[in-house]
Amino acid sequence: MLAELESWSPHVFGALGSELRPFDLARLGASMARALGKDGSIDMLRVSAQSGRALIRERFRGFEVDHLWSPWLLHAGLSPDHATGGLMLPIMAFTMHAAGLPVVTGGADNFVTAFARVLSERGVTVILGESVRNIEIRSGRAVAVHLAGERLSATRAVIASAATPRLYETLLDAAVVPSAGKRAADRHRPGRAAMQLHFALDRPVRWSDSRLDDVPLVHIGSGASSTGVACAQAESGLLPANPTIVVGQQCVLDPSRAPAGKATLWVQLQELPCAPEGDAAGSISTDGTWSTGTTSAYVDRVLDSIERYAPGLRSTVLDSYSIPPTALTAANANAVGGDPYGGAAEIDQSLLWRPGTGTGHRTGIDGLFHIGAFTHPGPGLGGGSGHLVAQQLLAPSRRSRSMDRVRSSLEKFRSTK
Ligand SMILES: Cc1cc2nc3c(=O)[nH]c(=O)nc-3n(C[C@H](O)[C@H](O)[C@H](O)COP(=O)(O)OP(=O)(O)OC[C@H]3O[C@@H](n4cnc5c(N)ncnc54)[C@H](O)[C@@H]3O)c2cc1C
Repeated sequence: MLAELESWSPHVFGALGSELRPFDLARLGASMARALGKDGSIDMLRVSAQSGRALIRERFRGFEVDHLWSPWLLHAGLSPDHATGGLMLPIMAFTMHAAGLPVVTGGADNFVTAFARVLSERGVTVILGESVRNIEIRSGRAVAVHLAGERLSATRAVIASAATPRLYETLLDAAVVPSAGKRAADRHRPGRAAMQLHFALDRPVRWSDSRLDDVPLVHIGSGASSTGVACAQAESGLLPANPTIVVGQQCVLDPSRAPAGKATLWVQLQELPCAPEGDAAGSISTDGTWSTGTTSAYVDRVLDSIERYAPGLRSTVLDSYSIPPTALTAANANAVGGDPYGGAAEIDQSLLWRPGTGTGHRTGIDGLFHIGAFTHPGPGLGGGSGHLVAQQLLAPSRRSRSMDRVRSSLEKFRSTK
């Protein structure tokens, strides 16, 4: 499977790393047809349209691969039954075999600090805690952004990493929004919500199967069966009865996270409704919000599930901190409805259908670009959309290319005299 992906990788990563305008699509299609031929191209497109569950059923016997890999689809915002999972699973397997899953020493905050230092070394000013209220457009061009009491003018461009509806419905005045922008805002559909839990433990987790004690990331679930049902319940507005639980034991790799003998535990839940209307198990009362009662009852369900595989866990919890979907949105306006991935990841909201203006990362307004998880190639920490826009901004303009040509012709003419 990985060898097959290797032969597909120029086309897969080519699509993820290009703007997908008609010209890009023609170029990508031609290079795929040349390299893979008709049958090979059809095979690749078939797997790209396949769900993760279908790929695993087709290629593996037994439950092991299903249990190992199906939960990873959640990290791509998919469910086991969503199209594109068939391609996403080998991509994830390939990435994890080739690069692993990096864990930042001392906690993810150090990652942000490192980026802040790189930016500061390059003379970038970062303003924290201020919200952009409006993007100023003059004569059809983005010329400034407005904070509460300050106007920051743009010399070259404004690059917005904002939720699609927020960009076109709030940050821009209605009169300047192109119809493609209005359509993008209408078409945006949030994905499932997520919740993050952090625990301080009196001792590291002791799993019934001690081989798990040293595994940095454990998924609790029964493969595509339980994950598929939990996703369907969340997408129907219900709290899942048997959630898939992502358990991170970062202390295994980074002992600096906790004092000697103690441990931290990090739990991620990616099958949640934005507004819980009911409980699939019928035991938690809900009122359509992530109230303190609903949140703590659901955290109890999660801890009970982990406890089944790690008896005694509860008695080791010294402190805990929960970030339910509403808190995620309060912390980051881009987490619309508690969705961590900038919109649903299903095929109708991905690739050239990721709601936008259909012109790459251009917005239809001169000098205004849209990047981030809401745009192609979607969520994640790869920085793909920003890179695409940076390449466009750094590429010499047509005018300066013509000037260069004139200059070099003049030089040639002078040197032959
Ligand atoms: C709990 C969690 C775990 C995740 N784990 C992973 C992982 O392991 N691997 C992975 O690849 N991805 C992971 N993701 C997804 C990943 O974090 C996102 O896809 C990625 O951060 C998106 O980057 P972005 O630049 O589009 O937006 P963000 O990182 O959300 O940054 C946008 C920033 O813009 C700010 N902003 C928005 N509107 C305004 C405004 N009007 N004015 C000023 N500022 C504004 C927001 O506050 C935010 O700081 C995770 C997400 C969550 C929530």
